Amino acid sequence: MYDVLFAPSRGKYVGKKPKVECLLCAIRDKNPDVWTRRIYEDKNVMVIMNIFPYSPGHVQVVPSRHVEDLKELHDDELEYTLDFVQRTTGFVKKIMEPEGFNIGINLGKSGASISHLHVQIVPRYKKIPEIEQEEIHKIYLENVALLKNKIEIGETKKNCECFKKNKYVLKKNPFVYVYEKPYNRGHVAVSPLKHVNDINQLSTSELLSLFKEVINAKNAVENIYHPVGFNIGMNIGKIPNSSEHLQLHIVPRYEPETGFMEVIADTRVVVESLEQSYEKIKAEY
Ligand SMILES: [Zn+2]
Ligand SMILES: [Zn+2]
Repeated sequence: MYDVLFAPSRGKYVGKKPKVECLLCAIRDKNPDVWTRRIYEDKNVMVIMNIFPYSPGHVQVVPSRHVEDLKELHDDELEYTLDFVQRTTGFVKKIMEPEGFNIGINLGKSGASISHLHVQIVPRYKKIPEIEQEEIHKIYLENVALLKNKIEIGETKKNCECFKKNKYVLKKNPFVYVYEKPYNRGHVAVSPLKHVNDINQLSTSELLSLFKEVINAKNAVENIYHPVGFNIGMNIGKIPNSSEHLQLHIVPRYEPETGFMEVIADTRVVVESLEQSYEKIKAEY
């Protein structure tokens, strides 16, 4: 077993991973050999700090039950998890004051080093704060009561023009569409009807229905393209330069995926036109 690290700054964390069948189950079961920075847990969910953080304050929300795919979660489990994704994002926002977030899930062979489903919440900063994870953990624990109060951000306009010109719409409520700047063939995105750019502007049931569409889209793409894994994620806020209207990306991953153009020319080679992708995926709807 080895891990591929794409972020050199994470190198200092390599080698700290204990040998257990599932790291997250071991954390849940309080295996004494496994070290973690726990923030919150109940019988359904854990919120822990990432031991390989991409940025200061990086946390993950983990359904307690060992599942490896979103579709294995029952509706009530998915809703509970999404509620905690909303709470935790609000919590980290309040404490760390980042400019934005990357929120994502890696499934299958897509860069996931732990197969137990977990949602990564990565705060993004204009200037990376110089603070150790240990110190942040202390602050998180002192403020853990904030997790109980969901931070809701006021509603914005209901109708907008954002998707009016989209030629590749698969479904209109919520919007499901073939993404126009695909990272890979079969890249689909889901957006709420409401013009919002933060998951805390949606109710948990609205977020749940978006995720059900994510699962549907993922199933459709899986049937057509048979990828080896998926990255599912969204960008929120000024950094990373997110879209004004929330987009949940479903990016299939293939093996082998990179060619020399991607490595040396900073270019994605997508071997299918958008029209072709649209026609294929549309057939699944
Ligand atoms: Zn597990
Ligand atoms: Zn919009």
